Formats: sequence, C-alpha cells, structure tokens
Amino acid sequence: MYNLKSENAEEFISNEEVLKTIEYATSNKTNLSIVNSILEKAREKKGLTHKEAAVLLLCQDKEKTEEIFSLSREIKEEYYGNRIVLFAPLYLSNYCVNGCTYCPYHAINKHIPRKKMTQEEIRNEVIALQDMGHKRLAIESGEDPVNNPIEYILESIDTIYSVKHKNGAIRRVNVNIAATTIENYRKLHEAKIGTYILFQETYNKQTYERLHPTGPKHNYNYHTEAMDRAMQGGIDDVGMGVLFGLDNYVYEFVSLLMHAEHLEALYGVGPHTISVPRIRRADDIDVTTFKNAVDDETFKKIVAVIRIAIPYTGMIISTRENKECRKELLELGISQISGGSKTSVGGYYKDEEEDSSQFEVNDNRTLDEVVNWLMELNYLPSFCTACYGSGRVGDRFMEICKDRQIHYFCHPNAIMTLKEYLQDYASEKTKNTGEKLILNEINKIEDENIKLKVTNNISKIINGERNFKF
Ligand code: SF4
Ligand code: SF4
Repeated sequence: MYNLKSENAEEFISNEEVLKTIEYATSNKTNLSIVNSILEKAREKKGLTHKEAAVLLLCQDKEKTEEIFSLSREIKEEYYGNRIVLFAPLYLSNYCVNGCTYCPYHAINKHIPRKKMTQEEIRNEVIALQDMGHKRLAIESGEDPVNNPIEYILESIDTIYSVKHKNGAIRRVNVNIAATTIENYRKLHEAKIGTYILFQETYNKQTYERLHPTGPKHNYNYHTEAMDRAMQGGIDDVGMGVLFGLDNYVYEFVSLLMHAEHLEALYGVGPHTISVPRIRRADDIDVTTFKNAVDDETFKKIVAVIRIAIPYTGMIISTRENKECRKELLELGISQISGGSKTSVGGYYKDEEEDSSQFEVNDNRTLDEVVNWLMELNYLPSFCTACYGSGRVGDRFMEICKDRQIHYFCHPNAIMTLKEYLQDYASEKTKNTGEKLILNEINKIEDENIKLKVTNNISKIINGERNFKF
C-alpha cells in the first residue's frame, strides 16, 4: 500500500502506485485540457507531483513538448542563472563484492585489474586534481567490507581535505559509496562530507533483484531505504539518481519523484541533487542485452520534466554523455557537470584511463577545455563550495533555494572562484575568454555593496589571496 511517510521502501515506492500513475499518465497524455492545467501549475515554478509530471513526460504533442522545453529553460534560468558548477569523480577502489550485471567492477569479473589506492596514492591523485583546478570531488568506491571498510573511506576523506598544494584545496568531498548503517552515515557526517550520493540504479524491485543477483546490494529494501538512514545519521544533503536503461524509463521517472516526495515529506528536505546517468559500454558489459536504452530525445524530456517537477534540485550529468548532448541538457536543466574526468582508479596522477575504468567516457576534454567551452556558450563556470562551509546545508539550504535567494550567494561566488581558476590554472585562451566574462558578470550584480565587495575581492585574488565567499 502506498504510504508517502512510511520508512518501508515498498510502501513509499509502492509498485501499485507507480503502475497506477503510469496508467493515469497514459490515459491522459493526449487530453490537452489536463496537460494545459498541469502546465499552468508548472508555470508557478513550485514543482509538480509525480502524477502530474508523468503526464507531461508522456505527452507527445509537439507544441506542448516545446512548451515543456521552454518552461524548463525558464526555470533553470530563474533558479540557477547561467552558472554551472564543476566537479570531478575520484575512484578510490574498485574492489567489490556485489554482482551488479551492468558494472565492470562486479565480483565475478576476473580479468579487470583490481586496485585500491594507498593514502600516498590518493595524495598524488588529489594533487593532480588540484593542479587541474578542481575544488569539489565525488569519491567513488566499490562495496567490500574487507578491502574498503568505512575506516578506509574516512581516512581517505581526511587525506583529501589535508592536501594543500600550491593554491589548491579540495573544499567539498561528496561521497558515493554503498548503502550503509546509520552509525556509518554518522561517521561520514562527522568527517564533514558534502553530499551523500547513492544511485538507486532501478526502482523496479523485480528488475533490481535480477540485476543484483549476489552480494549485500541484492537487498532492495536496504538499498532503497539508505537515504532515510543517511538523514537519520545526520547527513544534511543527499544526491539521488537512477541508471536509465535498466528498466522502463517511465517507471524509473515516477519512482524517482516519489522518492523525492518521500524525503521531503518525512525529513523536510528533498534531494540536493539528482543525477541522470545512462547505461554505457564497459569491460565485461554488453549493453545490447539491456533493452530499455533511452534515446536522446526521450532523455532530454526526462531532464526537462525533472527540472519542472523539482525546480530547486541540482541536476548532474557526467562524462558518460558526449559534448553535443551535454550542451542540450545544460539548457534544459543540468546545473553541475564533471570535467576532465577519469573513471579508473588512479587515472589522474598517471593521466590515463586504464582498463580499470567503470564506464566509457564520451567527453574526453580537459577541464580547461570544458571551462572554455562553457564560457563560449555564455555559461559561468563555478568552482564554488561556499554553502557547505557557511552552514547553508539541508533544510536551511532548501529554504533559501526555494525562495530563489540562493542566486545572491551563487553568482558572486561563481565569479570569484572562476577568477581563482583563471589566475592559477587556465590556459591563455581560457584566461582571455574568462576575463571578459567576469567583467560582464560583475556588471550584472544589482546590489552595489555586493558588487563593490566582489570587485575588491577580485583585486585580492590577483594579489594572491584565496577562498572568498558569500
Ligand atoms: Fe560494485 Fe557499485 Fe559496480 Fe555494483 S555498481 S559492482 S556495487 S562498484
Ligand atoms: Fe552551490 Fe552554495 Fe556555492 Fe551556490 S553558493 S554554488 S548553492 S555551494
């Protein structure tokens, strides 16, 4: 039975409710009066329910689809302006006891090289990442209680925060590790992580159990209830996502929104971020065996309708997607992208993707190239991590974000962190593009006090000072 506030996964993601929603959306997708009334509500820019959003997702009317895309662009602009936050994944270890059939790190893949970085190797990786200009990382690790226990993850987080190389610093470590206990989430919180990220992979229980035949991840309820435990352990921000292509995309989409509604109803805080990865080719993985692949047009619609349904959430796209696709998705709702990513263990220090990659990267540009590309498209690349250090997390962050006040923090912070990047890491070409953009962006600041402060801080950055924030 569907129960939004239940702590039981099969009640807050009730299969019956998902199927009823799909049935409702299917029978109303051509009913333009219902579609119009949903769009009218959506124009208030306060979000939609999973039922309403599903109708928009399935509506194939050309004119209405254009309205959906244009509204998602408007919402993106209103909540996020032209800022795009940059981050990089850091793979600590690919030892894993699980049997996920779509991931090359699955336990029975015997020919992939297994690696676990020592603290010294992590230090080298972090220096390489700092030398690229990164300030925000997402650490990734397989699940293996012997090789990657929580103590290893905690020690690695400490190491990452401790590396101060030249002007570099990692100021926010987001953590993507397997579902764990409340006690371990508490330890992660105490280690000062940013967002705890866990992808559901698929919300369909039967499919989930089939695709995770072995290992602790086989337990659907334990995995699906992880965000509840994370919140109970004191984690302020959680990042959700599904791996599109594992099951029917409508089922995943509806469930993802139901999951967000559940967190908001029970803890007063919805997802800080939503990631939208699509299944990719990798070692020992034959993507042709996955029949639910999502085409580019459908994928764009998914991103646009998530943006409309949950306007406040950050949306992340990785280098699984190619440059052209990333460009379109940025307009429709994406607010964070990875740049210069390596998806293998130890890939940055050696500057190569080895055969231990988790998935095939489709955007191989350097961070400098991505930053320059963003600016040429009139985006403002941001290396900001200010909220975390200023206590603007969890429900406090959501309140400011929903009131659309976050812009007053994000915009000046984006300008200042971009200036730091240009001073310390950018190529001449990127510097030239960036300096012009910064002047433009300072001129856009309406509040004279903030403008003055940003201008002064920019001079201080030129003189070698770092880490200014609002
Ligand atoms: Fe292990 Fe995660 Fe890969 Fe599954 S998806 S095999 S848990 S690393
Ligand atoms: Fe993110 Fe906060 Fe910085 Fe805005 S001010 S970019 S919300 S960390």
